Amino acid sequence: MKITRREFLQISGTAAAGTLFMGGLGFDLSAAQTYAETLRIKGARETTTICCYCSVGCGIIVHTQEGRVINTEGDPEHPINEGALCSKGASLSQVVNNPSRLQKPLYRAPKSAEWQEVDWEWALDRIARHVKDARDRTFKTHTTVNERQFVVNRAEGIAHVGSAALDNEECYLVQKLVRSWGLVHVEHQARL
Ligand code: SF4
Repeated sequence: MKITRREFLQISGTAAAGTLFMGGLGFDLSAAQTYAETLRIKGARETTTICCYCSVGCGIIVHTQEGRVINTEGDPEHPINEGALCSKGASLSQVVNNPSRLQKPLYRAPKSAEWQEVDWEWALDRIARHVKDARDRTFKTHTTVNERQFVVNRAEGIAHVGSAALDNEECYLVQKLVRSWGLVHVEHQARL
């Protein structure tokens, strides 16, 4: 059915007026709304997670059924957001259920224009090899300032960019790892 902009506004206005009318008559619609919500997630498994988008780190409740995310919503018990979410966080389930979502690592060989799917073992081995080679190539033991020599022991050829999806404990472990390699260029993608 094709609806003109004017008809759409009329329908929206009627629906809004209906809700106001019911409320105006003294009906409490919150119980019906809560019941409808409960039906939607009935029998689903409930877990919690952190929003992956920014460093605010809002808590989210995730409902899954048969291995599929069917609902996400703000976690009212989370101290950061107390149940509230911005529009990005509120649409998080669309990230999981998106048919365009990448689920395997892709590799583009030097001078190639094509991406190819590779397995995680291969990708992780290759990353480790590159990290080791770059570290060996660029590791600096000393630096000279005003003709004085200082011991620095740092890997200047690698940088690490963190993620807003990491919690405190994960950030701690990542810091330990990259500092143990001698990295000094350590940053975060969601600096506020
Ligand atoms: S993107 Fe929005 S919902 Fe997600 S952590 Fe940031 S403020 Fe919270």
